Amino acid sequence: MSSPTDQIPRISLRPDVEIPQLGFGVFQVPPDETEEVVARALSAGYRHLDTAAAYRNEAAVGQAVHASGLDRSEVFITTKCFNDDHGREKAKKAFKKSLERLELEHVDLYLIHWPVPAHDLYVETWEAFIELQAEGLVRAIGVSNFQPKHLQRIVAETGVTPAINQVELHPHFQQAGLRHEHEQLGIITEAWSPLGQGQALEDPVVVRIAEAHSKTPAQTVIRWHLQLGNVVIPKSVTPARIAENFDVFDFQLADAEMEAIKALDEGRRIGPDPDTFVR
Ligand code: NAD
Repeated sequence: MSSPTDQIPRISLRPDVEIPQLGFGVFQVPPDETEEVVARALSAGYRHLDTAAAYRNEAAVGQAVHASGLDRSEVFITTKCFNDDHGREKAKKAFKKSLERLELEHVDLYLIHWPVPAHDLYVETWEAFIELQAEGLVRAIGVSNFQPKHLQRIVAETGVTPAINQVELHPHFQQAGLRHEHEQLGIITEAWSPLGQGQALEDPVVVRIAEAHSKTPAQTVIRWHLQLGNVVIPKSVTPARIAENFDVFDFQLADAEMEAIKALDEGRRIGPDPDTFVR
């Protein structure tokens, strides 16, 4: 019999690296609750965890994975290099500290958390990432919150394309232009705040489509991401919602429903602007 985990589609990042398309984010999960919350997510069937040095809960994520009894190869773990750690040596040092906190030999995906153009060190940071991957410490490397000009620059200056760009993306902020740029460059789109931090769930169009499928607004929005081809990492600390957000593989949105959600785009960010965000 197939397990819930087998239902998660996988997307290829490199010839030998696949990311589960649905993952579990732990931003703003307090460190002392994270182990329990992640354990719950793993029992619900999630096999992809998204943390960051800046979230201060990497150690608890690692503890939950080690306590789960799952083989390391069964869990895909992403962490991120924060803004004060840009630069070749600093980035490498920050990575080693993340690895120590996670108590791991490698991570599956390492991301530059923000481009921080004001510091102008993201190309050098990317060079450090390329070396970490060559050393076998990271299976795939990517970026987060990069705008087209930042992506084009690292590709032009290093010749290495990020596997993924993790960006704010939800029904009210759909990033069509950036997604098009990703397609041109061969970069996978990963959506952060995929539920618009809960705001997208109150939209009447989303509510109506959810009712038509006897699903919830959260399941409907996650399904929309999956059908767009996004990697999606919803967050919840509530047991019923953790399970609910995973139960998205038994229905399909029709083209007209995808179009109706497409029409909700307001081009409105919830989070910081990547061109100016420093800390
Ligand atoms: P989200 O869109 O996943 O929303 C989470 C919130 O939505 C919850 O706190 C809860 O209030 C609500 N919610 C969740 N499930 C629900 C359900 N079934 N029913 C009703 N309400 C529900 O927002 P997020 O946590 O900001 O983003 C998800 C993940 O993305 C983060 O945990 C983190 O891993 C990542 N992230 C990355 C960046 C970045 O800069 N790279 C920034 C923000 C978030």
